[in-house]
Amino acid sequence: MKKLIIIGAGISGLSAGIFARQHGFDAEIYEMHSIPGGECTGWSRTGYHFDNCIHWLTGTKEDTDLYKVWKELGAFQDTDIYQADYLFAYNKNGKTLYFYRDIDKLKQHLNELSPEDNEEIARFIDLIRKFQVLTVPTKKPMDMMNIIDYIKMGMEYRHISKDLSLLQKSSIEEYASRFKSQLIREAIKNTCPENYYAMAIFFSFGTFTSGNGGYPMGGSLKMSFRMADKFKELGGKIFYNTKAKRIIVENGDAVGIQLDSGEIIKGDYVISTVDAGMLMTKLLEGKYKDKVFDKQFNNPDLYPIHSSVNIGFGVSCDLSPREHDISYEVEPFKCGGKLIDRINLKHYCHEPSFAPKGSSVIIVRIMGDDYDYWKNLRDSSTEKYYAEKDKLSKDLIDRIGKLYPETRGKFEAVDVSTPLTYERYFGAYKGAWMGFDISPKSKALIHNGLIKGIDNLFVAGQWIFMPGGLPSAVLAGKWAIQKLCKKEGKEFTFKF
Ligand SMILES: Cc1cc2nc3c(=O)[nH]c(=O)nc-3n(C[C@H](O)[C@H](O)[C@H](O)COP(=O)(O)OP(=O)(O)OC[C@H]3O[C@@H](n4cnc5c(N)ncnc54)[C@H](O)[C@@H]3O)c2cc1C
Repeated sequence: MKKLIIIGAGISGLSAGIFARQHGFDAEIYEMHSIPGGECTGWSRTGYHFDNCIHWLTGTKEDTDLYKVWKELGAFQDTDIYQADYLFAYNKNGKTLYFYRDIDKLKQHLNELSPEDNEEIARFIDLIRKFQVLTVPTKKPMDMMNIIDYIKMGMEYRHISKDLSLLQKSSIEEYASRFKSQLIREAIKNTCPENYYAMAIFFSFGTFTSGNGGYPMGGSLKMSFRMADKFKELGGKIFYNTKAKRIIVENGDAVGIQLDSGEIIKGDYVISTVDAGMLMTKLLEGKYKDKVFDKQFNNPDLYPIHSSVNIGFGVSCDLSPREHDISYEVEPFKCGGKLIDRINLKHYCHEPSFAPKGSSVIIVRIMGDDYDYWKNLRDSSTEKYYAEKDKLSKDLIDRIGKLYPETRGKFEAVDVSTPLTYERYFGAYKGAWMGFDISPKSKALIHNGLIKGIDNLFVAGQWIFMPGGLPSAVLAGKWAIQKLCKKEGKEFTFKF
């Protein structure tokens, strides 16, 4: 039996591992953290669980191909999918806009909020409907598709091709400016980071309103453990707290890995699911060039990455009557060197296991590319770094107390994670929470998962499939095994 070494037990590594076992490969996963899941994770503090990943997961609608992939991997085993009534709410000057899942209700609501935008709202809703039927190409990687596959894909996207090229070239801000209502403009901009292309909002709303963007109950970490259990049930082995130091290449073949401990593990194939920065500079020691990654790393304006600061609170009061996800204006405070005057409050009261009965978890996620700020601060003084995290949580306790008076004096747990947390635990490049983004100025690049000059190495992980996220991660793992099967002359047997 051919032996496969997989670096990383995130969603991509677990996906590759499970498909590898199902296709008769001996598979071992080497993971530097003590648990599976990579960035699909959460952690517990003094009786509260802070889920720091899934807001919505593409592929939760039963008749989609992606759902079948998640199901095959055990991600939804014995698990209900929660479908929220609205994606998030946005408050301004006492008025609240809800992005409802029910698209007719959304249309009516927007028209009530801004009758003068009636025509633009109709176009907005129409576009969302068009996006509802689009699916992520799941069956094969693009470079394994044949002419028939391309024709089929073209047919699927035909009804929207004109809109796609337009939305690809405009930023979210440009798109939002079509609306007269300031509330609608701002709420749309709040959907994604500002330099995203406008298409991103329609993929988000289309997925969510079609019921394909639900939340697996139990949360991110439990989903990761279910997949790790499936891999182990199939006979796969995971080695935790085991960091790979380099990939050993001999005469153009990847023949194994060397661990941080110095130990050498030999194998017939290696799959890397770690972020592209770690792969190219550390595991491959900067010895190889890669056209796609080089272009992305060298042009951060065209291919930005994003990180966030996540502040979790456990409060001993029931916040379920409050909106589950809402953005409010607040008295300005500093985070990552920037002035913040608006926060998103997300509570998890639909998850009984996250907090003691009658208590609640709130997470505030502040988006911003402030890795360098936090890194410089910690490098200058660890005390200052922790003091700033402490100040941030106190500022937020004050702001939340003003918005939700019932929380005053009831804060029992606090957790602050910065981009450095994601770098430390998952090796994430600059603490990024997805891969490279697509901006209106750039063209989506497709990485074929191979590094020129090295045979027997497959690259998976969210970094090869822009803009990253859990669907990219799970598919990249599957595609690596499809390529491996092709190389070995085996049939890839998973059918939809
Ligand atoms: C706050 C936050 C919210 C998010 N929300 C969503 C969401 O709502 N929906 C969505 O689709 N996506 C979301 N994402 C993105 C999603 O978490 C990622 O896209 C996905 O988990 C990436 O999976 P991966 O397997 O490609 O990479 P990773 O999760 O990064 O896995 C790589 C693994 O490799 C390990 N590793 C790294 N270097 C080494 C080494 N040298 N040796 C051994 N092991 C190593 C790491 O520890 C890690 O476990 C979110 C991410 C964050 C951070």
